[in-house]
Amino acid sequence: MVEDAGGEEKVRTVSVLPYNPKVAYFSMEIGIDPDIPTYSGGLGVLAGDTIKSCADLNVPLVGITLLFKDGYFDQRVDENGNQVEMPVKFSPASHLTLIARETSVAIEGKPVKIRPWYYLVEGVSGYRLPVIFLDTDFPENGEWERSLTRFLYGGDNRYRLAQEIVLGIGGFRILKELGFTGVYRFHMNEGHASLLTLELYNKTRNVDYVRKQCVFTTHTPVPAGHDQFDLTLARSLLGSMLPEEIIPNITFENRLNMTKLGLFFSHYINGVAKKHGEVSREMFPGYSIDSITNGVHSLTWVSEPFKKLFDRYMPGWRFDPYILRSAFSIPKKEIWQAHMEAKKRLIDFVNEKTNVGMVYDAFTIGFARRQTAYKRPDLLISDPNRLVGIAREKGSLQIIYAGKAHPKDTIGKEIIRKIVETQRELNNDFVKMVFLENYDIRMAQLLVAGVDLWLNTPRRPMEASGTSGMKAAHNGVPQFSTLDGWWIEGHIENITGWSIGAKHKEDSESDDDADREDLYSKLENKILPKFYGDRDNWIRTMRSCIAINASFFNTQRMVEQYVLNAYFM
Ligand SMILES: *Cc1c(COP(=O)(O)O)cnc(C)c1O
Repeated sequence: MVEDAGGEEKVRTVSVLPYNPKVAYFSMEIGIDPDIPTYSGGLGVLAGDTIKSCADLNVPLVGITLLFKDGYFDQRVDENGNQVEMPVKFSPASHLTLIARETSVAIEGKPVKIRPWYYLVEGVSGYRLPVIFLDTDFPENGEWERSLTRFLYGGDNRYRLAQEIVLGIGGFRILKELGFTGVYRFHMNEGHASLLTLELYNKTRNVDYVRKQCVFTTHTPVPAGHDQFDLTLARSLLGSMLPEEIIPNITFENRLNMTKLGLFFSHYINGVAKKHGEVSREMFPGYSIDSITNGVHSLTWVSEPFKKLFDRYMPGWRFDPYILRSAFSIPKKEIWQAHMEAKKRLIDFVNEKTNVGMVYDAFTIGFARRQTAYKRPDLLISDPNRLVGIAREKGSLQIIYAGKAHPKDTIGKEIIRKIVETQRELNNDFVKMVFLENYDIRMAQLLVAGVDLWLNTPRRPMEASGTSGMKAAHNGVPQFSTLDGWWIEGHIENITGWSIGAKHKEDSESDDDADREDLYSKLENKILPKFYGDRDNWIRTMRSCIAINASFFNTQRMVEQYVLNAYFM
């Protein structure tokens, strides 16, 4: 069968896949390839990095996600800082292969046809595993049903719940259509995929049978962040797929709660950093919740100059990133050369995109991630005069911002406006500042390697883990961050980076004023003097980031923990 996709490209099809996965990994978004824009940020990039490490380690896994034909969105930011969201032009046929199989699921009693596309991930040793992208955009479906695999995190609750039915139940059913009958573990990456448990339960009405096969990873440290739906809506969309007898176990305040559903039906549950495990145990008493700290895929996030350096000094690191611990043997001069190469690439990119005129030798700070209130992107620029004063005294500063705000996050969009306004007022001989549009995996690769310092300012305890600082560490870039998420584990003051607001206890909530004061005073008295005045020691810190943090905070170590604790047991 050959079909036409939007009149552009021929669709390649196959009818069988020669794989026999044992674990099915479900995620609403998977950022596996910079050219496949079906991810929004941290959760999707983590899913992609996880799958890549499974391929590196020969773990027989299949990834399941939705094919968002309009992607998340292309971000444009006008001169006043207003974010404009444009659909992404993405042709599935140029990156994916359609499989001539299908399944269907009833939503509001109406059958919805689902077809799978696949993408092959090849690991370092050549082991391959498939990622399945589910698609409902076929003429046999109604208009609304066709639109279900168009927008990531778009639409109302009815649309979102229908997407989750396609992902969880449709995804479960497609495994059988693909002949993947050997799957004995179902891993839900966040609650969006929890409905798959109903499919297992409805077959047997045996809770233990379901639990034995299911694993749930939560990523959300605050109750408001959990996906939930009115029971009336859930009953109307799910019909008989929603068994009445378990409703008390899977609802919170009379709403179907996707986290509770995942928790109830899983034998293994984890948070994504040690602290997040603790927070989750408090939030969900009565469940046994472990933690596996996130990582990043080393080969994806080490920049070209550092890849060459690592190949020379630490052969084998591509197969086993634990070898990065011997980075201590790399001469400092060569670390610096590799860094300057990565930095030049970034600065050239910035100067090409904007007319801010950044230079190679000025101290450069990066802040790039989803723009949203709890991450406090504007903490650094909240006192512009002080910032200029510090730069005048201690050496010039360049600041690079990037990140999308969720289309419905008005405060996040407000923050982008504030950054752009500050940029207009602030640029002078001492401080240069820029906001780059349309943050994505490619830009992240440039940024995490090319800045001198990676800044992160989440309000405790809102950052479940965070991963971008781990990407920076892989390129010898130290992090300056509040003690939240993974940084509680990765921070050694002045050796792998610096903390913000460490004076008050780790378990207290963040105080904006105290954190701002600490941020400015450490920048002024510790960080800039070390960078400009004690370069040798600065490079020592860079090297420790690689040896101490990159060797541990990678998805290879993380996947090994999942295999041992969640898949194998
Ligand atoms: C790594 C990454 C993120 C996550 O960044 P955090 O600082 O951990 O929130 C978001 N977006 C992209 C494109 C990334 O590569």
